[in-house]
Amino acid sequence: MADNDLMDKLVSLAKRRGYVFQSSEIYGGAGSVWDYGPLGVELKRNVKEAWWRAMVHTRDDIEGLDAAILMHPRVWEASGHVAEFTDPLVECRNCHRRYRVDILLAETGAADLPEARCPSCGRTGEWTEPRQFNLMFKTFMGPVEDEASVVYLRPETAQGIYVNFLNVQTTMRQRVPFGIAQVGKAFRNEITPGNFTFRTREFEQMEMQFFVEPGTDEEWFERWREARLAWMRDEIGLSPERLRYHPHEKLAHYASAAGDIEFFFGGTIGDAGWGEIEGIHNRTDFDLRRHQEYSGKRLEYIDPATQKRYLPFIIETSAGADRVTLAVLANGYREEEVEGETRVVLGIHPRLAPVKAGVFPLVKKDGMPERADAIHRALGRQGIPSFYDESGAIGRRYRRQDEAGTPFGITVDGQTLEDGTVTVRDRDPMQQQRIAEDQIVGYLRERL
Ligand code: ATP
Repeated sequence: MADNDLMDKLVSLAKRRGYVFQSSEIYGGAGSVWDYGPLGVELKRNVKEAWWRAMVHTRDDIEGLDAAILMHPRVWEASGHVAEFTDPLVECRNCHRRYRVDILLAETGAADLPEARCPSCGRTGEWTEPRQFNLMFKTFMGPVEDEASVVYLRPETAQGIYVNFLNVQTTMRQRVPFGIAQVGKAFRNEITPGNFTFRTREFEQMEMQFFVEPGTDEEWFERWREARLAWMRDEIGLSPERLRYHPHEKLAHYASAAGDIEFFFGGTIGDAGWGEIEGIHNRTDFDLRRHQEYSGKRLEYIDPATQKRYLPFIIETSAGADRVTLAVLANGYREEEVEGETRVVLGIHPRLAPVKAGVFPLVKKDGMPERADAIHRALGRQGIPSFYDESGAIGRRYRRQDEAGTPFGITVDGQTLEDGTVTVRDRDPMQQQRIAEDQIVGYLRERL
């Protein structure tokens, strides 16, 4: 399957199966804004929960936080976003479409701007001089729309963590090294959004800022780089050959070392199909120093053992919930030939799958529907989402769940009525086994 086809197929499957819909579709859609449908919201929640479990619940040295989207406007001056959070924008003089220079070059494969062909009208080298465009969305706080009431929609969740550094450290009596984790929306007025949910103007980040003593930062950077790659592979189930780490040559204004975890999406995403899903940055003490300077409040940490005062360095791990969710869909999508027919499967990790089991009566009679429905309801009470389906041939019902990514199929048949056993079908090998009804919950839990 060509890479370009994969994204088209995913967009269509996502819509057909209730994963992702275009925003405001009945009005013709809002450009590059997407809504997560019933299955999509579950998948993305499961991704975020897996992250929270790995970063917060299983660690004593990381605390959670949920800071507000709107912040004091000085935050964005201190952070450097007002002055520096810009992308170079060029416009095609012929068709007036606008592009971000680095994305244009990556996507067209041109070495420089004069060589680049406009993806929209096909003319080469007819570009305006690049100008810097600030990506922050502005709005107004309160009823008066003047300069004094300008506030920004946060372009990253990180700043909410930095300004709460001492609040969290003192209330939780944490000692450096420790981290603060947060999941939340961020907004960027991207010049060239696109590629489905890969680049949108409203998205969700899963960010963790780890505060360390200066001098230990390089070692922590390495540890986090490895830990985050392992999480993508082992907890999220992304194929190792589609994952890589790509160090940055050009560093942002705040960083002393940085790199991206990239996933191979294919098509026109990123660098020859490799797109960033998470950034790992050594932000030094840039952020705390600037907030200390701009707020006039001391943000130093005092080591209780040595009484040494210092501004910690920060190692940041910043993943996109939407991009990781898209990577899960792209990684899982496959088409197979089964008995002369094409079987479409979303092979997502059972722990992330939105629905864990399809529950089916083999036929719509002899009390099978009632028995299957009772199993479906019992699973719901146990917190295991399942889907009851009695319509159509059993093979078709299996296929519908394969395509939705459901890992197990439980079927009530004639034998169930005699001995209380059901068949459980595993999505991937398509093998079935019989188990007792009262073992279903245990069987599923073991595999989720
Ligand atoms: P890019 O170079 O692709 O614009 P970035 O380097 O600006 O990304 P970061 O600032 O490091 O991205 O943001 C951290 C994470 O947030 C990214 O790895 C990505 O998963 C996610 N992210 C950033 N911008 C977007 C966007 N416009 N749409 C969806 N996710 C995004």
